[in-house]
Amino acid sequence: MDCRILKIALDTPLDFIFDYRWQGDISILGEPVAGQLAIVPFGRREIVGVIVEVGNSSDLPQDKLKDVLGIRAQIAPLSAPWVALCRFAADYYHRPLGEVAIPGLPKNLRTLKSTALDRALKKIGKDLAVHDATPAGMTVLNADQQQAADTIAAAEGFAPVLLYGVTGSGKTEVYLQAAVQILMRSAQKEEPAQILILVPEINLTPQLENSVRARFPGVMVATLHSGLAEGERMMHWLAAHHGQARIILGTRLAILASLPHLKLIVIDEEHDPSYKQQEGLRYSARDLAVWRARQLAIPIVLGSATPALETWHHAQSGRYRKLALPARAIKDAVLPKVRLIDMERDKPADGITSTLIAALKLRLEKGEQSLLFLNRRGYAPVINCDACGWVSNCTRCTSFMVLHKPEHRLRCHHCSLELRIPKSCPTCGNVDLQPLGRGTQRIEENLQRLFSQARILRIDADSTRRKGSAQAAFDSVHRGEVDILIGTQMVAKGHDFKNLTLVGILNPDTALFSHDYRASERLFAQLMQVAGRAGRAAQKENGSASEVLIQTRYPQHPLYAAVIGHDYDSFAAVLLEERRHAALPPFVYQALLRAEAKELQSALEFLQLASECIEHPGITMNDPIPMTMTRVANVDRAQLLIESASRPALQAFLTVWIAALRDIKTRARWSLEVDPVDI
Ligand SMILES: [Zn+2]
Ligand SMILES: [Zn+2]
Repeated sequence: MDCRILKIALDTPLDFIFDYRWQGDISILGEPVAGQLAIVPFGRREIVGVIVEVGNSSDLPQDKLKDVLGIRAQIAPLSAPWVALCRFAADYYHRPLGEVAIPGLPKNLRTLKSTALDRALKKIGKDLAVHDATPAGMTVLNADQQQAADTIAAAEGFAPVLLYGVTGSGKTEVYLQAAVQILMRSAQKEEPAQILILVPEINLTPQLENSVRARFPGVMVATLHSGLAEGERMMHWLAAHHGQARIILGTRLAILASLPHLKLIVIDEEHDPSYKQQEGLRYSARDLAVWRARQLAIPIVLGSATPALETWHHAQSGRYRKLALPARAIKDAVLPKVRLIDMERDKPADGITSTLIAALKLRLEKGEQSLLFLNRRGYAPVINCDACGWVSNCTRCTSFMVLHKPEHRLRCHHCSLELRIPKSCPTCGNVDLQPLGRGTQRIEENLQRLFSQARILRIDADSTRRKGSAQAAFDSVHRGEVDILIGTQMVAKGHDFKNLTLVGILNPDTALFSHDYRASERLFAQLMQVAGRAGRAAQKENGSASEVLIQTRYPQHPLYAAVIGHDYDSFAAVLLEERRHAALPPFVYQALLRAEAKELQSALEFLQLASECIEHPGITMNDPIPMTMTRVANVDRAQLLIESASRPALQAFLTVWIAALRDIKTRARWSLEVDPVDI
């Protein structure tokens, strides 16, 4: 028997690496190596961890060491660059290494019997035989697209590229043709290559997946996102990890996948907020992707019609190369004309103005599709009593209970509390309770009344709860079985609706006056995205010209002027100048300390102690404040924002600070976020 001490990263809240003893016959089992997965006892459970070091000694006494239960030797060890990526993320976001490295690993690797794992590996191994990167049915690119694809494919070493293309300019074609060139070149050299393509939403992966599979019939394609069943997830993960899968499509979590032959990273719609994880390890998949590309010395493409200001800033300063696609890819398809409807002049009845109704009618007559966009689900955001002023507040949150009429429920969108709709006012007994404001359900109801013959479909989180129902809904739009589509941001992204010539945008004004300094950047991106769903095909003979109608009370607002002009450049220039003056990101680096407690006071007291516990030269420490939505599910929340003009100075401070924070005695739960986006 030989004995080794293995240092193993485990997914626990404790920020250290655990020592375990491995006893076995090396002549039979082989020497354990760093990067292998090990199964170990932890408390009463058996969990999987990553071996980060193999040695002969431990600081712990022998009798405290537990034995490793098994090593997954049939799986290749995770590579040193992958472990380095996890270490970087752990250091940068100040979280335990195991919390970064482990959650992305399939659960089945822990629970599955070795024989079942061997069978899975054998199945993937067979698929390897058909590897052939020759593409099928290539689209002919326009000159801008071709140049962009060639430039990306020819890039050597670390090459960050912003692919700045208007909606419908064919960015996906550019990614795919760059991928073809890279895969073919690697095949000639008999070197394996992998391409990672990230998309913002799960509901976009099947669409992209189908076109990628059709394009690369001889290449194994893997998908990595949270919607996969465990068995599938393990197969795809193993195929990526063992290098058989050459194209990997995924959502943000795929950035931490093991990809030993990675040669190109693509981040589609790189500005999208969903690339930021909003709980636990609050990482930015885009930022990690750039780091990973630099580490591996490979090109990375950030694609967007409305880049994040951080990305735009890098492109303007020359750190990223900018490749532009200024026109729509399909011949004669033009960007839709954007018009504002002044709601003070054209007063809406039931949320829809007469101008918009007339435009919808025209599309119905011509057999074309329309999309109404309203980023608020439910029937009405609140119900109230006129007699006494009662409103449907959530008893557990600083928010309203939203009326969901078809389900006969009031629902809190923050804590998921559900109640039956009261028959009368809980305070005064008045039976005449009124819905206030409008959500997608109410607009759907109005449309059914206005256009009783039309086929109307609502797509939002409520209508697509069942697995696969979102895809089925989008498919019916693509098949032309829908005349008017109404939806939330779910319908805004990526979808290529060929027969859609009208987009109506209801009530976008609230974001104009938000306290969040990123609100206008996001609103602009969202409006451009949803506007971009119109007119993606060439105008038909006798068809209507594509247009976007925005209902607003503030037609003079400069943001709308930029949307009308499809003018991201000037809008971004103005926003960046504002940010520079106000010393906001990307001109300053931020971290946010959050605290939660039953009583707001405990959270604030903790943050006050935190702000005073160590010296902080070069760091701006703001006052602790309650969060805008203070209470969620009976927990009060407060925050402390810290800033620095220097990223290294901020990082150095955080390392020392977090150690000091652990020594503060408090009942509050706290967490630290680096580069917060929701403040
Ligand atoms: Zn009342
Ligand atoms: Zn609630």
